[in-house]
Amino acid sequence: MRSLAKTLSSTYPHLNFVPGTSFYWSPETKEVFYDDTKHTEPSSIWSLLHETSHGLLQHTTYSADLELLHLEVAAWDHALILAKTFNIQISDDYVQDCLDTYRDWLYRRSLCPGCGAQCLQNSGSNFYRCFNCHTRWHVSPSRFCRSYRAQAKRPAAVFADKKPGF
Ligand SMILES: [Zn+2]
Ligand SMILES: [Zn+2]
Repeated sequence: MRSLAKTLSSTYPHLNFVPGTSFYWSPETKEVFYDDTKHTEPSSIWSLLHETSHGLLQHTTYSADLELLHLEVAAWDHALILAKTFNIQISDDYVQDCLDTYRDWLYRRSLCPGCGAQCLQNSGSNFYRCFNCHTRWHVSPSRFCRSYRAQAKRPAAVFADKKPGF
């Protein structure tokens, strides 16, 4: 994976490749962070291609959780194309696992802490409001590329403030 990171960084000089302990794309600084502690695992190569794809697709902002999911799908689609140019085969199961983890996470964020109904996010905000019991809750801003699996069982960060009618 380290040699791939070097190749990518010389091929795409407008992106910064930064070794770290997790994989994510930082649109503000145009940095692709990659987990250097797992550099021998095949999935690390796939993740690196995925993060690079976020950068190449110039993913910057999203207004709602659902849009973020669409960007994640787009980044994986692009990663598959990129992988072909490097003769790398990305496991489709892995991609689906990652996206499923994402879907689960988004689903949990959308559940009303008051009554459990699944709700829609207020557009362009980090708030959800329950159509059923009018609970409003705040979700922390989403970030590109969740740490898959490791955080899958962790409950979503949901802060409920019960203000009916708000
Ligand atoms: Zn509710
Ligand atoms: Zn991603």
